[in-house]
Amino acid sequence: MNILSVRNLETYYGAIMALRGVSIDVNEGEIVAILGANGAGKTTLMKTVAGLMDPEKGAVDFMGEPIARLEPDRIVTKGISLVPEGREVFPYLTVEENLKLGAFTRRAVPAGDLDLVYSYFPVLRERRRQAAGFLSGGQQQMLAIGRGLMARPRLMMLDEPSLGLSPLLTQEIFDIIARLNAEQGVTMLLVEQNAHIALETATTGYVLEMGRIVMSGPTERLKASDDIQEFYLGRT
Ligand code: ATP
Repeated sequence: MNILSVRNLETYYGAIMALRGVSIDVNEGEIVAILGANGAGKTTLMKTVAGLMDPEKGAVDFMGEPIARLEPDRIVTKGISLVPEGREVFPYLTVEENLKLGAFTRRAVPAGDLDLVYSYFPVLRERRRQAAGFLSGGQQQMLAIGRGLMARPRLMMLDEPSLGLSPLLTQEIFDIIARLNAEQGVTMLLVEQNAHIALETATTGYVLEMGRIVMSGPTERLKASDDIQEFYLGRT
């Protein structure tokens, strides 16, 4: 079942047209990756879906309902969490306070929800009373994902989860993303510069260049494409 449908989206920064008619589809249960160079428009696409930017034209439907131009907190309530680039955890709040903030749109948070996050990220339980600013980069990424989970999303959008992480930690984060997808049924839409790991983890991929989708399809097919091999996987 299609849960996210983006149609002909056009988003601007002043006079700069960052998205030039982008259309993507995400089916329930999938992991979808968006690849693209710096400045291609990947972050803008996620921000527009999350309601942090308003599109000039186009439509965003989630679970069959139009959501473009809704306030960001309404979009969270409908079941979409964004884990932003650079994590943006609150450095002076504790790990647990950061996690609880992820549930701000919910009236009551079952105690089990924190335990669920801690079961995927045991290091966050150990550090739950420490200020988030003292966590390592990888732990902050875990906290940002954990905070996103606290909203109990159906669709989680992750902007560059591997940014600044070692290959080992990147692998660890992507393993957890795959487990959350398989075990918790969270559909994932991720933006990633690391094309190798994105194409290994996702089932469907889109390539964004200068605000336009230039290629899309099952990742197995994308991996075999000469252009993807040359420009994104660095094979000659
Ligand atoms: P990155 O990997 O660097 O985050 P991206 O693919 O996410 O790249 P966006 O951040 O969505 O790209 O940027 C798309 C385009 O919009 C780029 O040309 C960029 O220069 C421009 N842009 C992004 N943010 C702003 C801004 N705040 N003001 C003006 N132009 C912007």
